[in-house]
Amino acid sequence: MSTRISAQAKAVLAVLADRRCHLTAEEVLESMDSIGTATVYRALDHLTELGLIRRLALGKKSAVYEYIRDSHMHFVCNRCGKVYDIQADFSGMAREAAKVCGYHVNWTEVTSHGICRACESEINQADEASAPEK
Ligand SMILES: [Zn+2]
Ligand SMILES: [Zn+2]
Repeated sequence: MSTRISAQAKAVLAVLADRRCHLTAEEVLESMDSIGTATVYRALDHLTELGLIRRLALGKKSAVYEYIRDSHMHFVCNRCGKVYDIQADFSGMAREAAKVCGYHVNWTEVTSHGICRACESEINQADEASAPEK
């Protein structure tokens, strides 16, 4: 496998590093000009292979990509599909995984699923609005 990164892949990596969030291939494509769909997909695959970005299947959205940076976990809202980053330390988990499997751990991914605060308050408001007058 070649470790040479094309100019297009560098540009894709820069988008993910700058935006600091989770983007689908379509969203990466939208934020770049003069680059073809196939090229973006190829660049995303290549960067994933190199371990510079990671591909995550979170919630309802199609696969998202993110730049691998500080260790964080994800919370996915089952209602709106929003993905939240939460700072977390996985060094204990990574050590445990390495101990059990006896091999090197590159990164650890943890995702919690539930209802976010914004959705919770929307649900409460809807309940109040539909509640009978006292
Ligand atoms: Zn939500
Ligand atoms: Zn994330």
